Amino acid sequence: MKVIKIGDCRVSVGLCNLRCPYCVHLHEKTENMNVNEIVKRLEDCKSVYIGGAEPTVHGDLLDLLQELSKKGIEVTLKTDGLLPEKIMDSLPFVSKFVFEIKGDFEDIGSVMTLSGLNEKRAKKYVQNLLKSIKIAKKNKKKIRIWFRVIPEYIDEKRFRKMMEKIGKVDEILLYQFLSRADWDRAVEGFEKPEISFVKRLKEVAEEYADRVIVVGDGER
Ligand code: SF4
Repeated sequence: MKVIKIGDCRVSVGLCNLRCPYCVHLHEKTENMNVNEIVKRLEDCKSVYIGGAEPTVHGDLLDLLQELSKKGIEVTLKTDGLLPEKIMDSLPFVSKFVFEIKGDFEDIGSVMTLSGLNEKRAKKYVQNLLKSIKIAKKNKKKIRIWFRVIPEYIDEKRFRKMMEKIGKVDEILLYQFLSRADWDRAVEGFEKPEISFVKRLKEVAEEYADRVIVVGDGER
């Protein structure tokens, strides 16, 4: 498995099946680690967060999940949701899924820009993302929607329409696009939204989740 960083009961892996233009992780150095090495680094944890780039593209993800489960370690898995079959396989070993969503998934043009996919694959990605969320919901897993707020691609009306499609979830995290080298690569045409705009989306998000978290300027 290609690992970017491991520590504090979190693993960030490399590789992704999307090509978001602002992504910092696609450009980070990775280290090859086998499942045993990773588990050894995590064995004192009660729960572990696996994110990255994209964990589901790693062929040995299931082995890692199985080994963590044998040790009684609870897992939260962050994913873009493009591979519902991997979500299905991981169900026995994952207690919470974090689905990363960028922009308005009803507008294929913006999905293409924000994910770097062509039209055909962007349409498939949206279909699969909704399928993955449905699988997690049907199997009563905890769900966090992790939403990147870029003002050109979302407003309150569009956000509500999207959330209506997803339905109620446990948590929504609204992440302010920061356009800062350590968080998001600056992209021409992508402005940093005002935190007040993110907070207006928070009011909508509260209709769909028990807990809403805002991450950005002056927030956690
Ligand atoms: S889905 Fe996440 S990890 Fe993958 S390219 Fe986009 S921002 Fe990067």
